[in-house]
Amino acid sequence: MRADIVIRGCLVVTMNEVADVIKQGVIAIKDGSIIYIGKAAEAPAFEADNFIEGDKKIAMPGLINCHTHAAMSLFRGIAEDRELDAWLREVIWPLEAKLKPEDVYYGSLLSCIEMIKNGVTCFSDMYFHEDMVAKAAEETGIRCVLSPGIIDVGNRVLGKMLLREAIKFAERYHGKAGGKVFVMLGPHAVYSCSLELLKEIGEKASSLNVGVHMHLAESEGEAMKIKEKYGKSEVELLGEVGLLRNNLLAAHCIHLSSTDIDLMAKHNVKVVYNPVSNMKLSSGIPRIKDLLDAGVTVCLGTDGPASNNILDMFDTMKIAALLQKAKYRDPRVLPAKKVVEMATMDGAKALNLNSMIGSLEVGKRADIILIDADKPHLTPLHDVYAALVYSARGSDVSTVIIDGKIVMEDRRIVNVNEDEVIEKAERVSYDLLTRKNPLRDFIWKLVERRLKK
Ligand SMILES: [Zn+2]
Repeated sequence: MRADIVIRGCLVVTMNEVADVIKQGVIAIKDGSIIYIGKAAEAPAFEADNFIEGDKKIAMPGLINCHTHAAMSLFRGIAEDRELDAWLREVIWPLEAKLKPEDVYYGSLLSCIEMIKNGVTCFSDMYFHEDMVAKAAEETGIRCVLSPGIIDVGNRVLGKMLLREAIKFAERYHGKAGGKVFVMLGPHAVYSCSLELLKEIGEKASSLNVGVHMHLAESEGEAMKIKEKYGKSEVELLGEVGLLRNNLLAAHCIHLSSTDIDLMAKHNVKVVYNPVSNMKLSSGIPRIKDLLDAGVTVCLGTDGPASNNILDMFDTMKIAALLQKAKYRDPRVLPAKKVVEMATMDGAKALNLNSMIGSLEVGKRADIILIDADKPHLTPLHDVYAALVYSARGSDVSTVIIDGKIVMEDRRIVNVNEDEVIEKAERVSYDLLTRKNPLRDFIWKLVERRLKK
C-alpha cells in the first residue's frame, strides 16, 4: 500500500470514541489524511517516501488551543501582576491603538512557532488585523480559526465599521488555505459591545454560517455592572439578542449562576476554560465540574501570551486539572483522560471541526504530534493520560504533522526561520513601546473617556 508518511512502532493515543490506545502502532498518511491506523503486527506492507520511527514515542492528535490572541506575544511581560480592568485600560488598549498590521504579523508568527513547538496544531484567535494572523499561520503551516475583534464602546460608527470588515474577512478566508483557515465573528465582550451590535453580529454570523467567539463573564466587576444596568446576567442578555447558540464559543465563563449554566447547556454553548490566565489576572475560578455535569462542552485555551505567559497547552492541561481538584476539594474532578479529551476532541467540537480533526481515525486530516517519552519524567509509563497531563511538557514534543505535512521535525521548525522571527518580533515589540502616533492617541483618549462613564 502506498503512503506519503508512515509512523511506526509508537504508542498511539487515538482519542477516538472508545479511546483506543494502541501499543506498537502504525499510522499511515496520504494526501493529508490518515489512511491507516492500527497495530504494527496487523498492518499491511506500506511503501512510503518518509518512514518515521516511533520507538519510545507517543503519537496523539495535535492539541487545540481554543482561545488566544497570538499577536499579544509582543506584550509578553509588559504589564505584570495587575487586575484585568487595569491591565486592559492602562496598558494593553493604549498599546493596541498603536499596532500596525506588520506588528500583528510578527507577533503572530512568533506565537505560531511557539505553539507548534508545544504541540498545538490548531488555534482559535481573536484580534485585529486577522489577515496578518492568517498570513503567519499559513507560512508556518498551522491550522487556525480566526475571529476579527469587534467592539463599539458606545460608538455605533466604530462597531458598524468593524463588523463590516469582519464580514469581508469571513467571506474571503472561511474554509480557505486548503481548509486550514476558518473564521468566526469576534465581539470582544458584553461590556464592550452594545446590545444592538451583538444582535446584528448574531444575524450576520447566521447568514454567513460561521460561529461567534467572545469573552463571557470573565470579570466580576463588569458582570456586576451589567447586572445593575440591565437587571440581567451577561448570559441572559446573550439569550435576548439571540447569541446563545451551538456555535457560540465563550471564553472564561467564570461568574455564572446556576440559571446561566442551565441556559448555556440548553443552547449547547461551548466554553473555553483558560485556567492560567484566570489565575494570573485573578479573575476567579470557573465552575468547570458544574458545566460538565450540566452537559456543556468545555475545551481549553491558553488565552493571549500577555496573560499566561506561554502558549504551552501541556502546562494548561495540568493547571486545568489541578485547579478544579482544589476548587471542589475532590481529586476525582477532571480526571487526566477527560483533560486530554478537552484539549483534543472537545476542542475540535467547539470549533465545529470534529469531522476533520480532534482524534486519530481513518479519514480524518493528519494533525499528529509525537512526544518523546524516553525521558526520566515520563518513565515508567503506567498511565499514558496521566503522563500527558501531569508529567509531559511542551518541550517533549519532537515532531508535529499538520494536514499531513511535517511542520516540525526533531524540534526544528520546517517552514520558517525561527531565529529570524525571534529577532524581528523582539525589534517590533521595542519599537511599539516608543512609537508616537498623535492621531491614534487622540482617538484613544476619546474611547477612554467614554469607557470611564
Ligand atoms: Zn482573551
